[in-house]
Parts: sequence; C-alpha cells; structure tokens
Amino acid sequence: IKKIGVLTSGGDAPGMNCAVRAVVRTCLSHDIEVFGIYDGFAGLHAGKIEQLDRHSVSDVINRGGTFLGSARFPEFKEESIRKEAIKQLEKVGIEALIVIGGDGSYMGALKLSEMGYPCIGLPGTIDNDIAGTDFTIGFMTCLNTIVDAVDRLRDTSSSHNRISIVEMMGRYCGDLTLWAAIAGGSEYVIVPEKEFDEEKLIKQIQLGEEKGKKHAIVAITEHITDVNALAKRIQERTKRETRATILGHIQRGGSPMAFDRILASRMGSYAVDILMAGKSARCVGIKSGEMVDHDIVECLTEMKRPFRQDLYNLSDVLY
Ligand code: ADP
Repeated sequence: IKKIGVLTSGGDAPGMNCAVRAVVRTCLSHDIEVFGIYDGFAGLHAGKIEQLDRHSVSDVINRGGTFLGSARFPEFKEESIRKEAIKQLEKVGIEALIVIGGDGSYMGALKLSEMGYPCIGLPGTIDNDIAGTDFTIGFMTCLNTIVDAVDRLRDTSSSHNRISIVEMMGRYCGDLTLWAAIAGGSEYVIVPEKEFDEEKLIKQIQLGEEKGKKHAIVAITEHITDVNALAKRIQERTKRETRATILGHIQRGGSPMAFDRILASRMGSYAVDILMAGKSARCVGIKSGEMVDHDIVECLTEMKRPFRQDLYNLSDVLY
C-alpha cells in the first residue's frame, strides 16, 4: 500500500488530533504517503484532500477538536454520492481510508468497504457508545470535564442546600453519566439503560434530606426527560430550590488528557498496521489494555456494549 487517507467525522472528540498524528507519522515511517481529508465525508465528496507531512501534525497532540474538521453529511447514505466520493480518492490514488468517528461514521466506512474500497474505523466519540472497545477516544477527557463541573456545582449546592440536576451527554449510552456520578459523588444516577422512576427519585431525595444531606446532585443522561421541567416538579414536591444545569457543548472541548492521547496514538498507529496487513472493513478497539480489531458489520449489528451493572451497583452503595 502506497497511499492512505484519513478523515474525522461526526461529533468531534478530544484526542482525534492525536489519532490523525499517529496515522500520519506511522505512514511516513513506512514510506506510505498520507492524505488528510477535510470536513469528514462532506469534504471527501467535495475533494478537499491535501497531502500531509510530519509538519502538518506538529503541535496538534495537545489540541482538542479536530484540525481536519468534521461535518454531518446525510447525503453520504446515497450510493451515487459515495461513488463520486470514491472517484475523488481514485483521482489522487488513495488506496485505503481511515475513518475516525462514531457509529454513524462507521456506517459510512462500512458502505465504502462494501463498494470495494478498504476502510478502517477508529472509535472517536466522547459517548463511549461503540461496541468492541472498552474505551472510545475522547471519553476520559470528557468525563474529567464533567467531574470538574460537578465539583463546582457541589460547592454552591451545599452552601444553599440546593438540589442540582446535571444533564450530561452520552446520546443513548449512560457511561459518561455513570462514571461521572461515581467520580463526582452524585447521589442519584439516571441513565438510559435503566427505567426512570421519578417518584422513586423524589422519595430518595427526601430520604437523603432526612439523613442530613446538605445537597443532592442528580446525574442524568441527555434525551431522557426535560430537566428544567423535572427541576420544577421536584422543587414543588420537596420545597427546596432545585436547578437544572445542562452542561452542553462545554463537554466536547478541551485539551485531551494523557489517557486519550495514548489511546488515540496507539489506535492510529494500529490502524495503519492492519491496513498494511491487508485488512479492510475492520474497526479498532482496546480490550483489557490490548489493541484489537473487529469486523465493522459485527460491531454495528451483533456486538453489544455491556452495561456496567457493577458500577451502577457501586454508585448505589456509595450514595
Ligand atoms: P457519529 O459518527 O459521531 O455517530 P453521525 O451519526 O452524524 O456521527 O455520522 C457521521 C456521518 O457519517 C454522517 O453525517 C454521514 O455522512 C455518515 N453516515 C452516517 N450513517 C450513514 C449510513 N447509513 N451510510 C453512509 N454514511 C453514513
């Protein structure tokens, strides 16, 4: 293999730059030419392709976001659009593509592979919602950002005996919420994997107050309920000031922490290794500290992320 392309797609995540850097430097160490595709599949279709050298990835290891840019491009679901995209790659002579993104981006990579174009997927998403890997690139950094925010809310909540509802990202995966609840000492955890029982939550908060708790921090994943309306209902019932805080896009930003930098560096380099070994339609993961790769189809269909019941139980014990 002589020419490899790399792109970032879907929601950005801290550490994506480290993954691109690792792809570039690993390629160059094997005398493979490497090309950056700007703005995800949209840029691929538009032919926004540039050759990268060592210098192109200087000083990106500590930068959040993705210097290649990212985009949502639903048009990529159409085969005719993908054919045009493959033409753009062929024009430059790029033989294989590394796609860094979430499961939507994996779908795009899979579709290209099915059309005979070799692709490898790397899990770049803060949500940790991809099967076949213990951790996704960006999860740990995002988790730290959330815990930092929860710590601040805790200070002011306990000063005012306030109830704080903190909405966190994760799409339909409760990992960020669950891990943040344990690290931030939240009293109540509401995740999409478990049915939400509002009555039980209110009773627990009242019980906590009887026990002498000065604050109540409720960690909840996005898309479960309207947290502002929930705060109003809790305030009416408990007669305590209740505020909802939606952490929002703050969670996405920031310099990647060491864990994500190392994870992304390993995954980026591993992706080039398996392309050189002739593999295609694979996705990279980390399992018990080791690099692994799986069939993208299996990852998107049969493989399920196990819910961390052990951590859920732990958060209950530490309540
Ligand atoms: P993420 O990769 O973070 O899950 P999205 O779900 O928005 O983010 O997917 C990113 C991009 O991947 C989409 O904008 C689209 O270009 C491409 N994509 C998503 N689903 C498909 C699909 N079924 N077929 C082809 N391309 C897809």
